[in-house]
Amino acid sequence: MDSNKANGEETAHCLILPYPIQGHINPILQFAKRLSHKSLKITLALTRFMILKTKGLSGGSISIGSISDGFDEGGRAQAKTHEEYMARFQQVGQQTLTELLQALADSGSPVDCVVYDPFIPWVLDLAKGFGLLAAAFFTQSCAVDSIYYHVYSGELKPPLQRGEVVVVPGLPPLRPEEMPSFIYVHGSYPSAFEMVRNQFQNIDKADWIFVNTFHKLEEEVINYMSRTWRVKAIGPTIPSMYLDKRLQDDKEYGLNVFNPTTNVCTNWLSQKQPKSVIYISFGSLAQLSIEQTQELARALTTLNKHFLWVVRSSELAKLPKNFSEETSEKGLIVSWCQQLEVLAHHAVGCFVTHCGWNSTLEGLSLGVPMVAMPQWTDQSTNAKFVVDVWRVGVWARADETGLVREGEICRCIEHVMEGDGEEIRGNANKWKEMAREAVDEGGSSDRNIGEFVSTLMSCSK
Ligand code: UDP
Repeated sequence: MDSNKANGEETAHCLILPYPIQGHINPILQFAKRLSHKSLKITLALTRFMILKTKGLSGGSISIGSISDGFDEGGRAQAKTHEEYMARFQQVGQQTLTELLQALADSGSPVDCVVYDPFIPWVLDLAKGFGLLAAAFFTQSCAVDSIYYHVYSGELKPPLQRGEVVVVPGLPPLRPEEMPSFIYVHGSYPSAFEMVRNQFQNIDKADWIFVNTFHKLEEEVINYMSRTWRVKAIGPTIPSMYLDKRLQDDKEYGLNVFNPTTNVCTNWLSQKQPKSVIYISFGSLAQLSIEQTQELARALTTLNKHFLWVVRSSELAKLPKNFSEETSEKGLIVSWCQQLEVLAHHAVGCFVTHCGWNSTLEGLSLGVPMVAMPQWTDQSTNAKFVVDVWRVGVWARADETGLVREGEICRCIEHVMEGDGEEIRGNANKWKEMAREAVDEGGSSDRNIGEFVSTLMSCSK
């Protein structure tokens, strides 16, 4: 008997398997919540290490299933190289995922569909081997996915020449330095380059392709990609309470693998004037050089505005000596914060960001003007869109030595926060509204999610 339909419970069961890093788990978890809200049964499969590190998850109706990447004590950091990690994850992951699927079936809750992260394409082959439906979930922008696809298909051939104009259908003309770093700095991270290319090796077998974006945001490239595959935008994957407010309990962003939640930041922000604070964060991975950290610190001192700066513990030593003490009247330095709480706070008037895709979507969806300081991977491409396509920010440019200097940082922050950045601030408000509309009832992303759920329900009958 198909027990997903026992006890009058007419639903389908989706197993969701993210690539196990925070920037991939959190958006897919938000997607899972939207599916669960539309009555799908959801099992989120996490590696044992992630379960240990995050001490589980308060996912409401979402169940957690455990698999292994072969590094139960230390996760990715335990592997000597990225290649070793990926090879072992595939080997041990295939075995433990098979066991999980079997256990769910034995317990009377067989899986109908697997939603997987294309960074681990073997999951699609495994799902198909079991005769299951499968959906790919791309966590990066559709523009970046399209660029990687064109590299995979051979239409775009790195290395790119300096001064070359790169033309990819559906995208504005791009300079090489506006391309993802794995392509622009060809050979810089060969295994990461392989990983982003390999996403497409078996994609033809996927029944659905979801991208964490929304239709109006990337209309041209979504339409272009849709000629080849049925690409569906389902984002932005921001907890409902920050956007449409339809999922009443949905404020948690998900797995916080860093510091626990505290109210330190919001209490501090609450004493500040509307739109007066600069929020600075470079995400969970990027490491600024000492010189760059100090240029930024000098800019903040010169500006003399209130600032909230996330400096991860591993980066603290790069700050100028006594910086925290000397700026304590104006600034708050924390090792981690609830970024969405901060961006949603009325006191925040500017987001200095590395333009990771999650941060970009969050800044845009919460209407905060941005100063882009991209570091690597897809961040330059995201910055290009922030600045030239959506026009919600400016790009703080590096000089010929590769550093973004104090003066440039001050100029950019003043531009977005003060008088002449009016257009940018107006656009930020418009995009905030469009992001909300996309996920609100009947919006483009809401419809795509709804169609997926109804198709799955009818297939599993
Ligand atoms: N983030 C957070 N607190 C912080 C800094 C970052 O919650 O102090 C979250 C942020 O909201 C985003 C994620 O971490 O969802 C970072 O993802 P992104 O894609 O922007 O960058 P990555 O860390 O992958 O480089």
